[in-house]
Amino acid sequence: MSDTIFGKIASGEIPSEFLYEDDHCVAINDINPQAPVHVLVIPKRGIPRLVDAQEDDRDLLGHLLLAAGKVAEQLGVQEAFRLVINNGSGAGQTVFHLHLHILAGRAFAEGHMAG
Ligand code: 5GP
Repeated sequence: MSDTIFGKIASGEIPSEFLYEDDHCVAINDINPQAPVHVLVIPKRGIPRLVDAQEDDRDLLGHLLLAAGKVAEQLGVQEAFRLVINNGSGAGQTVFHLHLHILAGRAFAEGHMAG
């Protein structure tokens, strides 16, 4: 668990509405949505950035992708959604507890950058 806002949300220390929860992660609506559907998948075990993940985190990282797919299905956006992980402040990461953004419900520019 990390001491960031997401660590506190994932542990329940800060009450939040979970759209999804399992043993390893939770999903919540983003407070400042960038698309009609903007959900964050947050692991209960905090890893600051993707590049800080270790071999031991392999199962958790796979789990987060599977959970994101389940959440997308639950939200009915399984045919068209984008997953984003911001790594480092230069890429726009503001909360240093690894999380996946699920974005859907609007057209996205083609290519690799969110926008
Ligand atoms: P990052 O920029 O680190 O990839 O993403 C952080 C995201 O968390 C941002 O999209 C921001 O709007 C969202 N966020 C920051 N604080 C909170 C919060 O307290 N609650 C929720 N639900 N979202 C938050």
